[in-house]
Amino acid sequence: MRHIVIVGAGQAGSLLALGLVDAGYRVTMVSDRTAEDIRDGRILSNQCVFEPALAHERALGLNHWDGEVPPVTGIAFAAGLPGSPDPFISWVSPLDNPAQSVDQRVKMSFWLTEFVNRGGELRIGRATPEDLADYAREADLVLVAAGRGPQFDSVFPRDDSRSPYSQPQRGITLQLMEQDPAAFYQGVTFGLAPGIGEFFALPVLSVAGPRFGLYVSAIPGGPMDVFDGVTDAEQHLELCQEQLRRFFPWSVGMAEGAQSGGPQAVLTGRITPVVRHGVGTLPTGQHVLAMGDTAITNDPIGGQGANNAVHCARIYQRLITEHGDRPFDAEFMARCFDAYWDYARHSTRFNNDLLEPPPVHILDTLRAGQEFPEVAHRFAHLFNDPTGYEPWLGDPETAQAYLREVAERAA
Ligand SMILES: Cc1cc2nc3c(=O)[nH]c(=O)nc-3n(C[C@H](O)[C@H](O)[C@H](O)COP(=O)(O)OP(=O)(O)OC[C@H]3O[C@@H](n4cnc5c(N)ncnc54)[C@H](O)[C@@H]3O)c2cc1C
Repeated sequence: MRHIVIVGAGQAGSLLALGLVDAGYRVTMVSDRTAEDIRDGRILSNQCVFEPALAHERALGLNHWDGEVPPVTGIAFAAGLPGSPDPFISWVSPLDNPAQSVDQRVKMSFWLTEFVNRGGELRIGRATPEDLADYAREADLVLVAAGRGPQFDSVFPRDDSRSPYSQPQRGITLQLMEQDPAAFYQGVTFGLAPGIGEFFALPVLSVAGPRFGLYVSAIPGGPMDVFDGVTDAEQHLELCQEQLRRFFPWSVGMAEGAQSGGPQAVLTGRITPVVRHGVGTLPTGQHVLAMGDTAITNDPIGGQGANNAVHCARIYQRLITEHGDRPFDAEFMARCFDAYWDYARHSTRFNNDLLEPPPVHILDTLRAGQEFPEVAHRFAHLFNDPTGYEPWLGDPETAQAYLREVAERAA
């Protein structure tokens, strides 16, 4: 039986591990945290997972929360200028199939237990780059799905040609609050204040039941970049409410009257987007393969990281099972990473463009969404399937030609 070691039990590692156990592989997963540690720990993400990624989880029988998670039914977009009481663009578009946000603490703690129940071998411990050589000696293939951050920098160096940023592009913060569901839209509310930042809000199924996830994304050094060092959850909630009042007054009602989710329900930080070389060479000459955020880390602005992690697990699982008994050598790993990049380059481009001041053709498109539901629907579904971004909004001429065509059809 072929033996696979996966370091990291997050969205990417757990999903691949469960998929490969079901496919008859011997799988060892190394996790620095137990299921209880994860469940009782701090929130990890806002984790909006869209339909194409949910479909893969369903195919593996891992859609345990379908009956209780509040469906994320659409995207409500609004953009406004500071000081203005009303947005200058505002539209709502339903998603053809709802997305879901199941708190990763709920999901990953359950999947870790499920992995063991389905026959996987779990090792609890924090793997180091040095440990990878031992794993590579005992297994046919070693994957590193240990999330973002520098810990495996020496194994998977940054790919400068695909990484336009060397600094974080946003100060980010999130709180899962208690709020009356009637107070907020049961989809993703996306607010844009050009030059200031953004917010995203959505219904989340958390450890203690349904919650309101409010994510604030501030341009560094700008007037909304005020969350560093705020650890008190009540104070954090008040600061979130204040930012909405100041920069998104048309959305202020959604967080008024909310109760703080407590100290474990607050997360603040900064992420430098980076694409790495996905095949690592160890000092011993052995090779290992990166997945999920370890391979490609995006800023969370486009809600793509967890979705990327699912698609990475899906793509790697297919290639591993198709590979049969042949060796998992560097050439095979390069093929895996290339196939993942072939998907993730689209979400990375979409995501990185959202970090930039919106150019005229994007503003025109967002404005047209207000008048033409078809345009809003097409934009909203980029979050589902970002492969549609580049051929459309990646080119200003194509984008404007589409807007002319929609307007002519409607005339
Ligand atoms: C505030 C915020 C909001 C977000 N919102 C969204 C969103 O709405 N939609 C979306 O798609 N994405 C979102 N993301 C991004 C998404 O959460 C990540 O991209 C996704 O979780 C990456 O999955 P992963 O499995 O690669 O890594 P992780 O989820 O980070 O999992 C890595 C796992 O490895 C374990 N680990 C780490 N180091 C070691 C080690 N040395 N040894 C053993 N185990 C180790 C960790 O404990 C963890 O369990 C958001 C992120 C943040 C921070």
